[in-house]
Order: sequence, then structure tokens, then C-alpha cells
Amino acid sequence: MPVGVLALQGDFEKHRQMLQQIEVESVPVRYPQDLDDCSGLIIPGGESTTLTKQMKYAGIREPLLEFAADKPVFGTCAGLIMMADTVDDSRVEPLGLLALSVLRNGWGRQVHSSTERIPLSFSDEVPFRAIFIRAPVITDTGTSVTVLAHYRNQPVLVTDGRHLACTFHPELGDDFRIHEYFKRLMNV
Ligand code: GLN
Repeated sequence: MPVGVLALQGDFEKHRQMLQQIEVESVPVRYPQDLDDCSGLIIPGGESTTLTKQMKYAGIREPLLEFAADKPVFGTCAGLIMMADTVDDSRVEPLGLLALSVLRNGWGRQVHSSTERIPLSFSDEVPFRAIFIRAPVITDTGTSVTVLAHYRNQPVLVTDGRHLACTFHPELGDDFRIHEYFKRLMNV
């Protein structure tokens, strides 16, 4: 079964290109029924306030919660914000898929976007070049959450064993390790 990439807003095409390079078939997800044939779902970066509205218009919020009860979801940047259970901005209605508290734009505004080298706990190779773009800060994690990478002592890549989320953009660049980690979570 292919992996779904939520295609309501944001840089979903970059995720699809990266999945293609690691030989994982993907489909864009815009309507609830698009989830039916998916083995997992990626929620890409973008703008979490806009994603909140668009998920409602598309009627995909409830179907997505049901999907996530037994299938893996991978959220990047705004996608991580949507997966959290607490967000500092009341315009965002997160899905509560991971026990995370999140501060939007916590590292600063656009000018503070940056590329950082972060070691991955599951890889002995060189650190990952993580691209942060108006990234959220994870301010708290529940006991169900394992941290797979830190930046400045803050968690930036986390899993609960089913779902995966990061505050940066692993779909930019040519390092496939984080998408491959998600591939293993989906068993595809
Ligand atoms: N700052 C955006 C938000 O709050 C996230 C930015 C991104 O996804 N690159 O939703």
C-alpha cells in the first residue's frame, strides 16, 4: 500500500520526491477517502493555522484521527505542531497524536531559519543536516515519547513507536535517513 502525503498546503511535493527516491510509492491525500488505501501518512510543513482551517473544510480531521489510531503518521514542522497535544496559539487545533507541548516559531522569525548538524540516535553515520524554517520548539514531552535527536538540548525529532515528528524539514536535501526510519515504522 502507498504512503499518503497530506496535500492541502505546504511542501508536500518534496516529501513525495524523497519517498520516490527510497522506492516508496506515495499518493496525495486531499479527501477523507484518500486515506483508505494508505499504509501511513505524512503531514508536511506549511502553516499550522492554515492547516487547522483546511483540515476542517476538507472534513478530514476525524478520519485522520481514526487512521492514526493504528497507522503511523509522520509530521514535519507545521505537521509536528498539528500532531502535538498542546500548542501555545489558540488558532491551532492540534490532533493530539503525540504527547508534546509546542511553541510556534519558538526559535524566532523567518530571519532565524538555519541549517544545523544534529546527531541521530539511530544512526552511527555523520550528523544530519537539519533545516529549520520558522520552526516550533518542543517545550515538554510525555513519558510515551522517545527523543531521537536534540538541538541545543531541546528535542527536535521524536517518536512514540508508532508516530514520528520533527521540528525541521528532512524532505529538503538528500539525506534519506529520517524518511527511511518512517518507512520502517510502516513496514512497507
Ligand atoms: N511557523 C509555521 C507554523 O507555525 C511552521 C513553519 C514550517 O512548517 N516550516 O505553522
